[in-house]
Amino acid sequence: MFKGIVIEKDEAGYRAAVQDIDESRLPEGDVTVRVDYSSLNYKDGLAITGKGPVVRKFPMVPGIDIAGVVEASDNPAYKAGDRVLLNGWGVGETHWGGLAQKARLKGDWLVPQPAAFTAQQAVAIGTAGYTAMLCVLALEKHGVKPADGEIVVTGAAGGVGSVAIAVLAKLGYTVVAVSGRPAEADYLKQLGATTVLDRAEFAAPGKPLGKERWAGAVDVVGSHTLANICATTKYRGVVTACGLAGGMDFPSSVAPFILRGVTLVGIDSVMCPRPERLVAWERLGRDLDVAKLGLITHEIPLAEAIPVAGQLMAGQVRGRVVVDVNR
Ligand code: NDP
Repeated sequence: MFKGIVIEKDEAGYRAAVQDIDESRLPEGDVTVRVDYSSLNYKDGLAITGKGPVVRKFPMVPGIDIAGVVEASDNPAYKAGDRVLLNGWGVGETHWGGLAQKARLKGDWLVPQPAAFTAQQAVAIGTAGYTAMLCVLALEKHGVKPADGEIVVTGAAGGVGSVAIAVLAKLGYTVVAVSGRPAEADYLKQLGATTVLDRAEFAAPGKPLGKERWAGAVDVVGSHTLANICATTKYRGVVTACGLAGGMDFPSSVAPFILRGVTLVGIDSVMCPRPERLVAWERLGRDLDVAKLGLITHEIPLAEAIPVAGQLMAGQVRGRVVVDVNR
């Protein structure tokens, strides 16, 4: 038996609870992992609270991030004792995830735990941080350089936003943080933001084009915020869109794209091919200051993951939440 969060949905409703799970219930897979840490991402918040249709199969163990040690493997790439990391691939949505003491997974989904980080640090970065790095890589790939001007980061005090600010600042970019939490302004400046703007300035419907300001953007909010950012991005600037914390809609016009040559880059971490994941993790090892990771992260035991998921959905959680599944 092992402990884990189980989400169920039936006539009695949608609910999540910590349960003792028999090992025979683990799903198919060629690698069994003793989980050390998982984390709470926005998607885990949606899954645990039922606020979004993330879970596709019931019962489900949530947890899209896993750091742990291989217990048994039928996959030639892994042997017992190997330290591994998993982000995404539908784990915690269609396949049992990491908010449990054990997981059975496809070896193809795993990457070795990055040498630069402990298991706790790798999960502190987690899907949120690795997605932030995918956004930074996309800005670089499209030629955005620190000298080009300001990079705006929305949802700044959340997981993706916090890591994006820390990485961009270390790379020499001038970062403008957009947040709904004025109380976190000092935190955002400690991470490396030079300016903090109120997210209310971006939330209302805007004009198709506004004064050019941003050389680049990391947007986790979507909706009017993303539209307003595109409308105020400089000629040939680059906007990376990875989230929907403010809404799934995109009420924009083509004006920024056809009149200013703005590039809008979609970022998906879930099915991102393995070689790009490895690059992102390698770059995180170089370009994320581990001391800032301490500032971004706090750790909770498994039982607290359910109430904290509710706080995450209410926008009350700062940075990243690591879950010690054995505590
Ligand atoms: P968090 O909950 O940690 O952060 C989200 C932040 O967004 C909040 O902290 C808040 O920041 C801001 N926010 C919340 N609600 C609203 C709102 N209604 N309007 C405007 N801003 C809001 O989530 P994550 O950082 O883990 O994820 C952020 C987004 O990115 C999510 O939508 C998530 O689904 C998406 N995502 C996508 C991935 C992909 O592969 N494309 C991978 C990972 C995440 P503040 O208080 O500073 O305003």
